[in-house]
Amino acid sequence: MLSEFIQKKRIGTLLLEKKLVTQEQLEWALIKQRESKCMLGEILVEAGFISEDTLCKMLALQFGVPFISESEINPSDELMATVPENLLKMKKFVPLKLDTANDILTIIIPDPNNFVLLDHVKNVLKYHVKYVLASSKAIERAVNAYLNKASRDDRTSSPAAAAARIEPASREKVSRRDIAALSEKEQDEAYGVNLVNSIVNYAFQEKAQEVHFEPLDGSFRIRFRIHGLLRDDIVVARGVEGQLVGRLKILAGLDFSEKRKPQKAMFNLEQGFDSFSCSIATLPGVNGEGAVLRFHGTLFDGKTLEDLGMDDPGRRMVRRFMMRNRGLAIVAGPHDSGKTVTMSAFLRVMDQAGRKNIVLQSCPGSTGTMAHHVQVDASAGDAVSVWRTAVEAASDLGVDTLLVDGSPYTLLEESLVPISRSGRGVVTSLATGASAADLLHDIVSSSSRSAALISALSLIIVERLIPVACSQCRKPLPAGAARVVFEEGGLNPAPFNQMNFVESKGCPACSHRSVTGRKAIFEVLEVNDDIRELLIRGASPQEIRKKSSERGMKTLKVQLLEKARRQEATLGTLVSGLVE
Ligand SMILES: [Zn+2]
Repeated sequence: MLSEFIQKKRIGTLLLEKKLVTQEQLEWALIKQRESKCMLGEILVEAGFISEDTLCKMLALQFGVPFISESEINPSDELMATVPENLLKMKKFVPLKLDTANDILTIIIPDPNNFVLLDHVKNVLKYHVKYVLASSKAIERAVNAYLNKASRDDRTSSPAAAAARIEPASREKVSRRDIAALSEKEQDEAYGVNLVNSIVNYAFQEKAQEVHFEPLDGSFRIRFRIHGLLRDDIVVARGVEGQLVGRLKILAGLDFSEKRKPQKAMFNLEQGFDSFSCSIATLPGVNGEGAVLRFHGTLFDGKTLEDLGMDDPGRRMVRRFMMRNRGLAIVAGPHDSGKTVTMSAFLRVMDQAGRKNIVLQSCPGSTGTMAHHVQVDASAGDAVSVWRTAVEAASDLGVDTLLVDGSPYTLLEESLVPISRSGRGVVTSLATGASAADLLHDIVSSSSRSAALISALSLIIVERLIPVACSQCRKPLPAGAARVVFEEGGLNPAPFNQMNFVESKGCPACSHRSVTGRKAIFEVLEVNDDIRELLIRGASPQEIRKKSSERGMKTLKVQLLEKARRQEATLGTLVSGLVE
């Protein structure tokens, strides 16, 4: 429950009431928000429907705090100097006034939803923090003006300012300060609620896929999975984690008092106008109870096969499968490799064909109007039997194309193969890190009914998400450096001697993450009669791969090499992909 946000009037409603946006504009922005997970206000500003000042004024109204215009932002140098430069350089806030008698610092921010920033300022500066609102551009200009002046003054001209300046905090120092600051709040019951709110807000804002709550020896760490990597640690004091994990358990409807057994659940999280499908898993450990909160993709993603970046031969194979609409297609990839998004692109192709489409999905997502959508909740009973019943029901309903996302593996042979052999199309997801040829070989050779499986299988799509290096801080790598990385990965560097590699070191444009997003690559293997013949006589994965490559399949490794050659993939990405 994000009570603070729900109770307050939602920004969209406010803008509509004040006739600052039209119903059509708001609806358009809500659809955009679902795709991008950006804040609704941001989207409206970006589209030019409202100005940033208008948005700020409405946020001020919503949160009941003053809005100030750019001309009122005029902090003294002494006041600016009380803030460590590394905090100022984020350009997310500016100090307005300091009430030393009560230890209250008032700052100017563009977005009151940014609880993480407020917490951070509070913890580093050791003041109570109040805020007023101004546009982000006004704030950035005020910070820039001060930083430019400070560098001109060579930072030494004002001894008072120098004395007041707090040492730039290293990560370790910040963490220790956080611990000290938060220990005092252990008694504060509301703290868990606020912290969860700020964490969820931050996760949405940074488009994180997961949030990890990790009890360590002596501290408690929160990490965000952003673009596939865990980063942006927040360290809080021991003692808070009970409230934190407890709060999450309440949100997810788990047993609050059960702390010794792992638990998991799916639930919806309200965020502003929208509702996001999440899952949570808790795990007790020697240092206490940890948890992972995961945000799920929705099947109403709106992406087409072209948007996903699938190559021409791959797309042709998928279209062929959908046109025939017979047999079994498997979308495979490691955990969090975008399988649901790929299946949503299938859904779009399916929808154009005028058939009865049914989607069975474990997450409470949405498919728009494209299919009959069933959420399979297997948390109550035996997962296999719950799923089996759902698939049988779909079959009875006269389904033409069945899309199954997140079912147990045993269901594949038991239920999905028979349906796909009865003249219907079935698309299912499978979590595995194997390549298409390896996967095909493995599932057929481990099957007790391999003949039925071989005749049902039509298409294997294997997916990987690879990081996109930030183009603002991308630099060529010195020649010798690549050699070392190849050797460390146990690869012979000789074949790559002629290649030039790039590396991103991190810059403000990429929030010092060196990565700005992820892009999918696909390996699409069509199971035709040639391949079936190989499978029947128990051919090796190498033979399958060779035959498929002759028929137009591009392996993941070949695609990765092509990307590295075009300098779209970094050396690190290439080496980890080749070693896999
Ligand atoms: Zn960068």
